Amino acid sequence: MRLILLDPPGAGKGTQAKRIAEKFNIVHISTGDILREELKKNSELGKKAGEYMQKGELVPDDLIIEMIKNIISNKENISNNEKSISEKSKKNAQNGFLMDGFPRTLNQAKKFDEMLESLGLSIDKVINIEVKKEELVKRLSSRRVCHSCNNICSLNDKKNIDEIKLGKCPVCGGELFQRKDDSEDVIMQRLEVYENQTKPLINYYKQKNLLVDIDGMGSEDEITERILSSL
Ligand code: AMP
Repeated sequence: MRLILLDPPGAGKGTQAKRIAEKFNIVHISTGDILREELKKNSELGKKAGEYMQKGELVPDDLIIEMIKNIISNKENISNNEKSISEKSKKNAQNGFLMDGFPRTLNQAKKFDEMLESLGLSIDKVINIEVKKEELVKRLSSRRVCHSCNNICSLNDKKNIDEIKLGKCPVCGGELFQRKDDSEDVIMQRLEVYENQTKPLINYYKQKNLLVDIDGMGSEDEITERILSSL
């Protein structure tokens, strides 16, 4: 199974991607996670990408495409990329994957098609999670991430609100932080980038008959259920 998750920032793709990848036992490839990992390591790629990420802009296509090429063909040229791809990253991405945060431009999508074609592979479905803009801003500004286990949680999560307010991860007790690009001005920039550069992909994949629209309003469980029943 080869899937792409296509949705605006804040629509919950990180959480949904983990669940779907687990369900189908495929590799979860999050370009955002990989880049953040590279940034932490202060690698050449991390340094270059960091400048764009902090401003809420897209990292240039050539850097991203090269990174994806290495992963898909399993060359492992990105230093220690295994852990960043997913917990189950020992598997070969050619057996099945879920792309989370890639492609994000028409150019990336076209290059990705060429890459897959040269490997004799194709995409099965593109999942488009739809959420209203006001809701996206609300979700992003209340998002917190765990330093230790990468769990994504929210100040809107009533069940665990006391711990989250104290900055404690409800899963592992680790320290929570707010991503730099989840500040209000960067959120607006990221949403604009999505509108201008990523939204055209909806039509691109619709024309290829690959698109599945999913209503992204409701609880995380409800959204997972909708995605799974559409596959
Ligand atoms: P995400 O965690 O998917 O929201 O990604 C965080 C940031 O990483 C984005 O705002 C971009 O700066 C960068 N990024 C992630 N994926 C891509 C991509 N496919 N193309 C360009 N930049 C990306």
